[in-house]
Amino acid sequence: MSLRPYRDIFRRHSKQIMVGNVPVGGDAPITVQTMTNTLTHDAKATIEQILRCEEAGADMVRVSCPDVESTAALKEIIQNVNVPIIADIHFHYKRALEAAGAGAACLRINPGNIGSAKRVAEVVRAAKDNGCSMRIGVNAGSLEKKLLDKYGEPCPDAMVESGLDHIKILEDNDFFEFKISVKASDVFLGVAAYQGLAENCDYPLHLGITEAGALRGGTVKSSIGMGMLLWSGIGDTIRVSLSAEPEEEVKVGFEMLKTLGLRHRGVQIISCPSCARQAYPVIKTVELLEKRLEHISTPLSLSVIGCVVNGPGEAKETDIGLTGGGNGNHMIYLNGMTDHKIGDEGLVEHIVELVEARAAELEEIELEAVKATEDAKATEDAKIAEDAQINE
Ligand code: SF4
Repeated sequence: MSLRPYRDIFRRHSKQIMVGNVPVGGDAPITVQTMTNTLTHDAKATIEQILRCEEAGADMVRVSCPDVESTAALKEIIQNVNVPIIADIHFHYKRALEAAGAGAACLRINPGNIGSAKRVAEVVRAAKDNGCSMRIGVNAGSLEKKLLDKYGEPCPDAMVESGLDHIKILEDNDFFEFKISVKASDVFLGVAAYQGLAENCDYPLHLGITEAGALRGGTVKSSIGMGMLLWSGIGDTIRVSLSAEPEEEVKVGFEMLKTLGLRHRGVQIISCPSCARQAYPVIKTVELLEKRLEHISTPLSLSVIGCVVNGPGEAKETDIGLTGGGNGNHMIYLNGMTDHKIGDEGLVEHIVELVEARAAELEEIELEAVKATEDAKATEDAKIAEDAQINE
């Protein structure tokens, strides 16, 4: 029984697969991915964008491979980035063979759309030979004609049936290293389809609300749809689809996971909306802090509250707290306790320094913990080896 059971999320049991060196499904952390929007054959621009996504925290990145020039650029791209690369293939099975050969960690391809059984077998062989996993990507906007004829329109049952049909094709080819998505731009349809699929298979699920819109609208829409699924334990990897730069998708994805306590990365800022009681410009301060603290990846919390109405209470729950006080006398809290006062001047700079120092402290603690675990393991291994020698 956890201390706060109202916060518990029980994840759906799913099989674990690997996307390169990143596990997806099972008890692996929920991963965040995005997709480049550069021309893939422009390797330099694509590499630069992927590196920016990595900095924002992306665990893996997908690139489109619409033509042979794109798959030709893949090798160079993969060699110059750190995260696993997923090749996005539609229809052209040869692109899948080329992408697998170029070192893609995963192929996003629908086996039912490749054509003959022979072609499917060739793609599966290429995936197996190159250690690639796959993602089946069902989309409400491109459902098979036979399913549209059967159901009349894209609906959850049609999407689940499409997913299960593609699954069967891969299973019949003795291939099980795949995840699956059933995306729709309509949240009701998408959520119902994912719920249906979650009940009908144990493959890891890639969540997304497709074509969700621009940064603000798409974030709200994705948070409602994906938030509901994640909260109910469904979802092993997520991509937020926004008409915005891919780094923004990554940041939004992490915010979703942070909100649900499913993953922690960077500074979680708790701030008030501000009102006539604010003792310093809260909105401007938070905007500046958000930008200045983007480089911190260590998870920690910061409350930025305009006055004593809610400031002390929020500060108690965060690593670092700022509460506005009268006459430019603002209170700084460390680990929930009042620590010192600061005026208006250099306020942002001061908070940035405190956060950086706390992050460095936490990183040090983490390093020591890892080292202690490694030392304990080495001692245990040495003891086992010694016992084995004595018994010989
Ligand atoms: S915490 Fe204070 S400044 Fe912020 S919204 Fe509430 S009353 Fe206003």
